[in-house]
Amino acid sequence: MPQIIDGKAISAQIKEEVKARVAVYRERGAEITLAVVQVGNDPASSVYVGNKKKACAYVGIRSLSYELPEETTEEELLALIADLNSREDVHGILVQLPLPQQIDEHKVICAIDPSKDVDGFHPQNVGALCTGEEGFVSCTPAGIIQLLKRSGIVIEGRECVVIGRSNIVGKPMALLLLRENGTVTICHSKTKNLKETAKRADILVAAVGKPRMITADYVKEGAVVIDVGIHRNKDNKLCGDVDYESVAPLSAAITPVPGGVGPMTIAMLMYNCVEAFRFREQDR
Ligand code: NDP
Repeated sequence: MPQIIDGKAISAQIKEEVKARVAVYRERGAEITLAVVQVGNDPASSVYVGNKKKACAYVGIRSLSYELPEETTEEELLALIADLNSREDVHGILVQLPLPQQIDEHKVICAIDPSKDVDGFHPQNVGALCTGEEGFVSCTPAGIIQLLKRSGIVIEGRECVVIGRSNIVGKPMALLLLRENGTVTICHSKTKNLKETAKRADILVAAVGKPRMITADYVKEGAVVIDVGIHRNKDNKLCGDVDYESVAPLSAAITPVPGGVGPMTIAMLMYNCVEAFRFREQDR
């Protein structure tokens, strides 16, 4: 039987740690504040934003909510970000993606002050991750490193294969595994011999965005399998990018969906908010 990597328990542990740090700052009279911006009312985004605000309330972080109409212009959103950048009482800024098509996402990400970019998407933070400097790391891949470490899984010296190269998951994931001294291969839609490459992995991260694509044929016996995907099937049940039924029996450890990577993203967002405050204090 594989080790089931328990994202629910590990994310709860991280939230408790964050809550304790927030309490120390509160005793000193500091109020850590996250501005959460949503444009339009995409139902999935509303659920994510709601969960982020709930997590803030739980750990003691103040959240400021900005719900803008679907027809908001790029200029209007950029003006709001400029205002939030300048506010001393705002430590983190989160703009929920995706944005309506009239708004250039890259422009918006670049407009956020890198020291408030708790999503870790700003090129300056991505660059810091590349060069090994301090900065914010994208929450989902940062959460995966925590899952591995807190489950006692060694990364150093191991063959790590990441399937997917998005800016939000695949690329930062690969950089983090490299930072932990893994030997890293990144695969994508143009990769030849994907199955053979994936089968080399001691640690396989599936961030491909295709329901249950990663079957037993892609996985070496005894591999650690991390499933980033979240999909809903016809019966409204959640599944991942990994075909859990066929892969679990041959893996040494695996993340379930739900209850694996999913809960880690928000826990790491809370962690990044406290770090935003700490960075600010450090600079004073
Ligand atoms: P993207 O769609 O942005 O990226 C998917 C990546 O997979 C691309 O790099 C693409 O390659 C690659 N890919 C697609 N098809 C294939 C294929 N047949 N063979 C090999 N590679 C392929 O997705 P994200 O990175 O944003 O997300 C990945 C998954 O993780 C999704 O299911 C998403 O819902 C989930 N997710 C979960 C989160 C969580 O909190 N648990 C957070 C973020 C995402 P190419 O670049 O060549 O197109």
